[in-house]
Amino acid sequence: MFEEWQRLEQNGTPVYVQPERPDWFVPDHEADCLFQELQQEKEPGSGRMLTAQRLVSQLAADPASLYPGRHPLLTLTSLKECWFHLTDRCNLSCRHCLFASSPAQAATLAPEALAQGIAEARALGCTIFYFTGGEPFVYPGFVAMVAELLVDPKIHVVVLSNGLLIREHLTELLALPREQFHLQLSLDGLAEQHEAQRGKGSFAGLLESLGLLKEMGFPLTLSVAVNRANVGKLAEIVAFAADQGITNIHLLWHFVRGKGSLAQFVAPALILPELIRAQEMAEKMGVRLDNVESLRSQIFSTPGTKHDLSNTAWESLAIGPDGVIYPSPALIGITELACGPLSDGLAAVWRHSPILEKIRQTSLIDSADYQANPLRFLVGGGDLDHSYLASGTLVGHDPYVELYNGLALWLISRQAHQYPIRAKAEILLRMGEVRHDCPDGGEVALTHCNCVISLADGHATVREFYGKAALTANEEIVNPFAPAQALASFIPTDSWKKSAPRCFKWVA
Ligand code: SF4
Repeated sequence: MFEEWQRLEQNGTPVYVQPERPDWFVPDHEADCLFQELQQEKEPGSGRMLTAQRLVSQLAADPASLYPGRHPLLTLTSLKECWFHLTDRCNLSCRHCLFASSPAQAATLAPEALAQGIAEARALGCTIFYFTGGEPFVYPGFVAMVAELLVDPKIHVVVLSNGLLIREHLTELLALPREQFHLQLSLDGLAEQHEAQRGKGSFAGLLESLGLLKEMGFPLTLSVAVNRANVGKLAEIVAFAADQGITNIHLLWHFVRGKGSLAQFVAPALILPELIRAQEMAEKMGVRLDNVESLRSQIFSTPGTKHDLSNTAWESLAIGPDGVIYPSPALIGITELACGPLSDGLAAVWRHSPILEKIRQTSLIDSADYQANPLRFLVGGGDLDHSYLASGTLVGHDPYVELYNGLALWLISRQAHQYPIRAKAEILLRMGEVRHDCPDGGEVALTHCNCVISLADGHATVREFYGKAALTANEEIVNPFAPAQALASFIPTDSWKKSAPRCFKWVA
């Protein structure tokens, strides 16, 4: 059975992964030596055979069943979220804009189409509405429309904005319920990098808005599009955010689209050390990097949970300023991915569009070389949008997979080294012993579109929101296997609780 395990290494720490299940564990040095001998089909020397047998018996589990891809295992039930790219118009014309937005752009969603889209999405079960562009605050009647939507306490609204029009809308914004309104404001770095992308005065304007929003009690996320100009400053950006009282940061991996150029792209191998430095700073300053937390919840989940691509087309859709439905916000305006006009009805397009059905039929196992990545079901196989924009195919070409893999191994090895070693030849940590997920019980879990990962109150990833998990940390899921495993005694109870899942119930 041990041949199913692959040995990886992160900075000298061995991490064994069973890719197809998926499952992982970290052994101590002596156990690692034994496992390597077993992998090389060497017989452990005298006195060590019993130890090897004990270790291997701890790994016993049913063999992974043949995975048919996600489509047969999922059901199209309710549309959980809907994105509205309201307009291509923007008060800025940034040098990396995906949609080449500017004050001169005119494409804007007709108010009747917006009202129709919202009503039909609500009828399909949607409770999270995302508004993006261009700049959503330039859309006529924007805040009044949001206020009307938020009369329903079940609804949450997420707005992706450059934050420069806050002062103009202060009075209307004051009336919005803070717990249902989530702002994700763009920050491209400290003053110099931010203004190099966004123009003179944009940094001071953003700072003013951050102050106003803080005064009004709005929870905020700062979104940083990582590019060549700011990658070396991620830790400093985290510290800056903390100084502004912001506790949630989202990192957006650069798309080569629109004005977003290849020259701005940064290779994952260069991002990873900066991301780790930023995460260490975030921990020191009490800030949450939602990308890290989201991946943590995938890695520290129930063994056997397969993360297989995103919820696009299953639970999520996007509507463009042309009144056409697209799979996701980053793919708005790509003609070959136009799923159908909103005038055909949101439900009809969602259920019957051949493009959306093709996406639902697509699984990470459709990538020709998917077996080359042993961490595939832990990291989710990559982002559909990134894969499509990099290659024209939905799966297998997300250029950032190497980054997700590196971060996953770093999170695992770091967690494993938190516990004291009390014996030799032991497994230090195994998947499932520390949990950060909020499981919904399915074998397949979907990741979330990379444009937004968490809601701006600093507590819940969007996946957790959907999970409707328990209000307080559930003791059973801190370490569900502990009673059956001797190795659990190596993990101090306090440490489990410190790393217990962040499951919160949304009081709706
Ligand atoms: S990146 Fe955002 S703020 Fe800048 S031009 Fe594009 S839509 Fe406007």
